[in-house]
Amino acid sequence: MTVYLVGAGPGDPALLTLRGAEVLAGADVVVYDRLSVASLLDLAPAHAERISVGKQPGGPRTSQEDINALLVARGRAGQQVVRLKGGDPFVFARGGEEAAALAAAGIAFEVVPGITSAVAVPAYAGIPVTMRYSSTSFTVVTGHEDPAKGEASVNWEAVAALGGTVVVLMGAARCRAICERIIAGGMAPDTPAAAVQWGTRPNQRTLRATLATLADLDPQPPATIVIGEVAAADLAWFENRPLFGRCIVVTRAQPQATALAAKLRQRGAEAIEMPAIAFEPPEDLDRLVQAAAQVGRYDWVVFTSPTGVARFFEQLRDARSLGGVQVAAIGPGTAAALAERSVVADLVPEQYVAEALLEALSQGIGPDGPGRALIPRAETARDVLPDGLAAAGWEVDVVPAYRTVAPVPDPDAAALLDNAEVITFTSSSTVTNFVDTFGADAVPAVVATIGPITSATARNLGLEVAVEASEHTIDGLIAALEAFFAS
Ligand code: SAH
Repeated sequence: MTVYLVGAGPGDPALLTLRGAEVLAGADVVVYDRLSVASLLDLAPAHAERISVGKQPGGPRTSQEDINALLVARGRAGQQVVRLKGGDPFVFARGGEEAAALAAAGIAFEVVPGITSAVAVPAYAGIPVTMRYSSTSFTVVTGHEDPAKGEASVNWEAVAALGGTVVVLMGAARCRAICERIIAGGMAPDTPAAAVQWGTRPNQRTLRATLATLADLDPQPPATIVIGEVAAADLAWFENRPLFGRCIVVTRAQPQATALAAKLRQRGAEAIEMPAIAFEPPEDLDRLVQAAAQVGRYDWVVFTSPTGVARFFEQLRDARSLGGVQVAAIGPGTAAALAERSVVADLVPEQYVAEALLEALSQGIGPDGPGRALIPRAETARDVLPDGLAAAGWEVDVVPAYRTVAPVPDPDAAALLDNAEVITFTSSSTVTNFVDTFGADAVPAVVATIGPITSATARNLGLEVAVEASEHTIDGLIAALEAFFAS
């Protein structure tokens, strides 16, 4: 079988190539480094063996000879091996040595180039490595060699003399000596210089200075250093996104947690998916089965969550039985779940809470007076809606469509919470379950909720609510977070 030397890109998992994702999906073994992004490992099948060869905290780094031997052994054993390497596998990454070892052993290998940090990290800092007329070349140099040795293999004077843009990888620790050598080589001390730390990641940080002053800012690895006129370019975009650098915990159930996390990441946040709620079938599924079979007897079916919609439609045998029935949705998320099933909600209240739904339904009563309503919903939920409808003369059947449970927390999850700045709650149960599981002290500083009911639950548990969505939807919650951090 083949050993793939795959470039993983500089950090943003979306910068893996399609070919890289393809070979990962078929991997038996993934051999990866310390800087690898954990979510890329998720692209390998669950059964794939994952072997870290990076330097472990407190442990030694696996030697290059041992890595080569590992790749040869696994390739010889007939496994599909993915050797995942930061950036591009052939740019300061010893991929050449690994390929040579494989070739010498007669093991088939393929190289999947990656997006190198030498170009992508400056790009994420808004620095183009070339500019027409002013910067007509870029030189990528290792800063790993000790420039003070004198006999170092990098000819810094020549690099300085060439002009253009100089990109230094692995140079954070020796930043001062490198800049001094380049100045000695004739480049002006006031040449713009930048160091981009943790580029393309949510914790990216760009230090801007000149060749003479960059070292004073004490850049920390991993950093890409850019020297030249282009380093003064002010084309920042990545760091300007509205939630850039915010670490936000998402407590919604899966798969909605992933959808919300993706939206937050798009706005620059680091999103931690920590579902505090999961859905299971109700204790008594029969009632839902019966209600779905006889849905034509109702005037209205009222949905109060996307999950209620999903569970109800799982039981609905024939869509035509809904033909004469009006359908209400508590908000746009629930209406969207209906639309996915080709049902257009007849009613969505202006405010997405039970009280507003009750009022809207009461106003919608036709000439025949109050009707019969079916409410398929969570086993435990507030009674505002059924009680209000009943009080107004409706005949109401509340049918449990699902049960919410608190998922067993991941033991590593608590550690992640330490770095989190914000937590989002999209329902009262997420608050209650989260506090039950982790304790109120573990709740990150900024609590953001989808609306007043969830906020009230949070306050009852002693939490201070900093952000509350005025439109009670996921997009409303995101907008409220953006507004909070903009002010
Ligand atoms: N093969 C890699 C380079 C490996 S050398 C590539 O093509 O990108 C490791 C060096 O790359 C680091 O010391 C740093 O200079 C740079 N680097 C890698 N990831 C980086 C990141 N996320 N931000 C800034 N620099 C990074």
